[in-house]
Amino acid sequence: MNYEPVIGLEIHVELKTKSGMFCGCPADHFGKTPNTGTCPVCLGLPGALPIPNKKAVEWTIMLGLALGSTVSEVSKFDRKHYFYPDLPKGYQISQYDQPLCRGGKIETSQGTVRIHRVHLEEDTGKLQHAMVDGKKVTLVDFNRSGVPLVEIVTEADIHSADQAKEFLKKLHQIVRYLGISDADMEKGSMRLEPNISIRKVGETALPPYKVEVKNINSFRFAAMAIEYEIKRHATILESGSIPAQETRGWDEAKNATVSQRSKEEAADYRYFPEPDIPPLRFTRGYIEGIRQSMPLLPDERKQKIVKEFGLNEQQATVLIDDERKLNLFESTVLSNAVVSAGISGATVANWIINKVADYGVATTQQVAADIVESQKITVIDESELQNVLATVISSNDKAVADYKKGKQQSLMFLMGQVKRQIPKGNTQQILDALKAALDTQ
Ligand SMILES: [Zn+2]
Repeated sequence: MNYEPVIGLEIHVELKTKSGMFCGCPADHFGKTPNTGTCPVCLGLPGALPIPNKKAVEWTIMLGLALGSTVSEVSKFDRKHYFYPDLPKGYQISQYDQPLCRGGKIETSQGTVRIHRVHLEEDTGKLQHAMVDGKKVTLVDFNRSGVPLVEIVTEADIHSADQAKEFLKKLHQIVRYLGISDADMEKGSMRLEPNISIRKVGETALPPYKVEVKNINSFRFAAMAIEYEIKRHATILESGSIPAQETRGWDEAKNATVSQRSKEEAADYRYFPEPDIPPLRFTRGYIEGIRQSMPLLPDERKQKIVKEFGLNEQQATVLIDDERKLNLFESTVLSNAVVSAGISGATVANWIINKVADYGVATTQQVAADIVESQKITVIDESELQNVLATVISSNDKAVADYKKGKQQSLMFLMGQVKRQIPKGNTQQILDALKAALDTQ
């Protein structure tokens, strides 16, 4: 039987603000000694009051604008309760019914993926399972708890693992270009959660179940988890059952998803408005101000380099893939050395795509000099050329004789001998001179 996957995505992105979501602790928690970046607010000690981070709110609105979302004029924070030791308060400050942004979309080659909402919350602490004094224990590091975290939720508009991957890559690019997060998957500053179900081809209603795969840290694993789930659900449906509504995890070692727990319903979280933070109200002018301050987005910069520098679609796609690569292209193509040598944008693009090994290290000046050098055709001094020709002709009697008998291959052989001594020489100039010299033999 043929099935159609119905996939929605939830993506968590840690913002790279200086301080926490509701306190002054450093938001940069990576690699720090456990529990050194904490305070009474993020530890949820009695009497501590949260104050929202203005920059985090502004950046979330900016992301919403980049995705074409509608920014709420009134938004609020809510408490989301759950019993797990990664948050000391016993609840997470998140947003329930009045998120900062609603709607929006990202276009993929397999169709539009609508955005359901974009909201702001605080990240949780990290649990570490370890052995201490021969006992299995769980250690908690609260450095990450309270770091600003944006959640982007899509509609279930995705119908294949490839489309999910394309969407995620585009979102990742947008976040990086906005400069609001490192979105480094290995460090966990961007985490992916696909919601997957399947239905018979031709059906339009949402399937009666969905399976969430939590905290995936690469585009490839997300695609693999989706493929795995599609096959698993098909087998269960074929046997006449319906897959269980549950949360699963991706096991890198087994290349499989594994059951973690039955999926919570919103009611399980007992959401209620955060009483310590008044609702946020934004004027149109404030939102417009954020829109004005937005840098160009990847698609806009792609169109710009195609139009201004005559690149083809493929070159432009490779360059925008990494902003450092794109920046290096733009600075090199506009550098004095390249402009005054009259080198085309396409040549610069090809050089940067094929010859530059490390975009983080390469400098505009060096790359421009290398490109100009590679394009240089040296007009060789005539007497120097004649000397080289004389030497080559006198030391290759057989090839010269073969050429005289009409063997074209011998001409190319002699040409090769000359070029070895003057590699930068203008090929046409050398060839003409070589033929003339051979004719006088
Ligand atoms: Zn704190």
